[in-house]
Amino acid sequence: MTALHLENVCKSFGEVEVLHDINLTVEEGEFVVFVGPSGCGKSTLLRVIAGLEDATSGTVEIAGNVVNTTPPAKRGIAMVFQSYALYPHLSVKDNMALALKQAKEPKTVIEERVTEAARMLSLGDYLDRRPAELSGGQRQRVAIGRAVVRHPKLFLFDEPLSNLDAALRMNTRIEIASLHRTLDTSMVYVTHDQTEAMTLADKIVVLRDGRVEQIGAPMELYNKPANKFVAGFLGAPSMNFVDAKLIGKPGAKTLGIRPEHLNLGEGQLKGTVTHVERLGGDTNLLVKLNDGETITARLFGQRDVAVDAAIALQFDEADAFFFDAEDQAMVA
Ligand code: ADP
Ligand code: MG
Repeated sequence: MTALHLENVCKSFGEVEVLHDINLTVEEGEFVVFVGPSGCGKSTLLRVIAGLEDATSGTVEIAGNVVNTTPPAKRGIAMVFQSYALYPHLSVKDNMALALKQAKEPKTVIEERVTEAARMLSLGDYLDRRPAELSGGQRQRVAIGRAVVRHPKLFLFDEPLSNLDAALRMNTRIEIASLHRTLDTSMVYVTHDQTEAMTLADKIVVLRDGRVEQIGAPMELYNKPANKFVAGFLGAPSMNFVDAKLIGKPGAKTLGIRPEHLNLGEGQLKGTVTHVERLGGDTNLLVKLNDGETITARLFGQRDVAVDAAIALQFDEADAFFFDAEDQAMVA
């Protein structure tokens, strides 16, 4: 059975249409990430799925049932937000138990589920603490625990890691991935961060201005982006775009080349180094080409290259991407 199916979903606020004709399917157990720049409609789409906003038109189907008129609490979903929204006066345990108490679940069931969620999220030692006595990462785990205890058919996450620092973001990301493996429940996860999308998703939905640009597995999108937007959005540092005249492919306007496909050599691209980022494992060079464009080369390892050095970069033409005048990918 499909966990979620959206058909021709549109959403307007007054005159302004922010979601245009969204079609997508989330399979049972799948981890699907909606990714796109800020303001592209990710949260609105998630809220339409949750029932916190009504779709202006189209159908929302969860586990085989059309839920357009079903209230959020009856949709079998649980949502985790960026702001943890924990009750400050309640203990971790009571925060996690609250929704079950409100649903009048038996005490033994509540106890069982809270204990199970606390174990999964390594919160067992903190059950009696209040949110103020926890770190940001622990608070976000409690917010996730509050969703887990409800045994939803579908989890919805809206930028759950945005308030955490970089190291915690990575840890919590790995915890969410492991939670998904353990629970095997469908998840829809919204983020503006392409790294989260690439590392967490079974399937990525790239959104732009309220439209789906492309849907596919992370490496499918990385290796075969449908257009220049998807090509530039996924991957860090992002793909370089230069005038396709450089190679001369009929009909091509833009040549795309990923930073990791560039190497020092007597190559096609000549320019001057304007900046060097030494990351230890990699060295990123910003190079201003002689024809004026600036590109990034990601070189493996530590390189002895100085700012202002004149260099040449080369790439294998088999690694190049081509885009036409409408920014659509041209298949070789
Ligand atoms: P994202 O989560 O991708 O950053 P949102 O879904 O929050 O984007 O917003 C998409 C667009 O819809 C934005 O232009 C935003 O200003 C607009 N929008 C969101 N909620 C409302 C609302 N309640 N009323 C009017 N406009 C809204
Ligand atoms: Mg948002």
